[in-house]
Amino acid sequence: MADYVLAIDQGTTSSRAIIFNHAGQIVESGQLEHEQIFPKAGWVEHDALEIWKNVREVVALALTRANLTHRDIVAVGITNQRETAVVWDKTTGEPVYNAIVWQDTRTQKIVEELGGTEGAEKYKAKVGLPLATYFSGPKVKWILDNVEGARAKAEAGDLLFGNTDTWVLWNMTGGKDGGVHVTDVTNASRTMLMDLSTLNWDEGIAADMGIPTSMLPEIRSSSEVYGKGREGGMVPGVPIAGILGDQQAATFGQACFEVGMAKNTYGTGNFMLINTGTEQIPSENGLLTTVCYKIGDQPAVYALEGSIAVTGSLVQWLRDNLGIISSAPEIEDLANTVDDNGGAYFVPAFSGLFAPYWRADARGALVGLTRYVNKGHIARAVLEATAFQTREVLDAMNADSGVDLTELKVDGGMIANETLMQFQADILGVPVVRPQVAETTALGAAYAAGIAVGFWNGEQDVIDNWAEDKRWEPSMDEGDRERLYRTWKKAVTKTFDWVD
Ligand code: ADP
Repeated sequence: MADYVLAIDQGTTSSRAIIFNHAGQIVESGQLEHEQIFPKAGWVEHDALEIWKNVREVVALALTRANLTHRDIVAVGITNQRETAVVWDKTTGEPVYNAIVWQDTRTQKIVEELGGTEGAEKYKAKVGLPLATYFSGPKVKWILDNVEGARAKAEAGDLLFGNTDTWVLWNMTGGKDGGVHVTDVTNASRTMLMDLSTLNWDEGIAADMGIPTSMLPEIRSSSEVYGKGREGGMVPGVPIAGILGDQQAATFGQACFEVGMAKNTYGTGNFMLINTGTEQIPSENGLLTTVCYKIGDQPAVYALEGSIAVTGSLVQWLRDNLGIISSAPEIEDLANTVDDNGGAYFVPAFSGLFAPYWRADARGALVGLTRYVNKGHIARAVLEATAFQTREVLDAMNADSGVDLTELKVDGGMIANETLMQFQADILGVPVVRPQVAETTALGAAYAAGIAVGFWNGEQDVIDNWAEDKRWEPSMDEGDRERLYRTWKKAVTKTFDWVD
């Protein structure tokens, strides 16, 4: 009897394989980082073949560590960095170019041209998204426009596109020898190519971007059997039965199944999602309307999302580009060498600004400096940047939904940082709650797969398994909170109009 579900979490900085038991607890895991390729300012790429190799290795690692084989696995779920675009040749299985990562801003001109006189809102009513460099469609257009021979091959039907969920699934199910070319509704909702109401590709938008629809994967629900692990592969014959984009997976793993429930994930960037039920709510405050999940034949559930491009990656930048710390967790000790930010504010507009501003013209700024400021203050300003950006998104969510959030469920790598979590509760003025299983992204994908094969009965099992670990209550004086937040807003304006 197979007693476990395997989740593959193909993230921005690493790929993980995590094995869960029926109680939703982690049994074992494996993790490998992949190279971040920065060919030019504003460009971010991954080697899709390295990612696929890492996925195979981490699955083998997790199974070996758990002393299990594929026979013990009842189903596999996939979750992934969304928007990152891979285009490959279906006859050779070779990518025609590196994967263009969601943070990459090279499509700024393409995006402006697509918007024309109608501007960034051109497709928003259909796809829920403003035209921005963030999403996959314009990245695919860039590849077809710039890689020699790519457009001709695409038009001949030889190329396939996918986010990394599709790339991993296609390879797992046989690759060039009959791999399944499928994505789920949540990933499709991040391409700018899917109509949110019909859950089908919009041929008009694909035509505007010059993307042949033959390249696009079939859109399916987030929880159903898409195919089986290929013979001779890492999980031969095991059903692959769940796909959710990473942020939607975390929302699922955090059991946010009721309208108005929200989670915030603190990883490379930050992503807050609020469940809006079967209703699509158009945002008037810089949020995205997106698909939250769809279980089998049940209706799709939608979400409003506030995406912040740079949070944890600013900590990495401090480590890798400045060398002020030698590991990410060290930032907490450094921040605690001082009592406050000393007047310094760091607005990490490295990829422009995402929610709620959507300004491609912005670039990062460290402001409020005096001779007094030291590296402790900068460490604090780095952490505070995450909390302030989250407050801006929460304000937008309250405004769009008309309901004030009463608490925030959190997850992701940065929530290990207690100093940040306390400051976050202080700046939001609502409690911040950490669950016992912090790997909610992988957990959500595992649940989606396990539900599809009947290993779990449905959402109630997810709710029953969810348990609180820790809660931070706001303790800052209201006046201080608003004063700090006002100064942050002023700092943000200093990043505007930097790039033409
Ligand atoms: P992702 O899934 O986006 O790759 P993770 O959820 O694994 O990201 O989180 C990793 C991020 O969290 C990194 O950007 C890292 O800089 C940051 N991080 C990890 N530990 C800490 C810490 N103790 N304090 C602050 N940031 C941290």
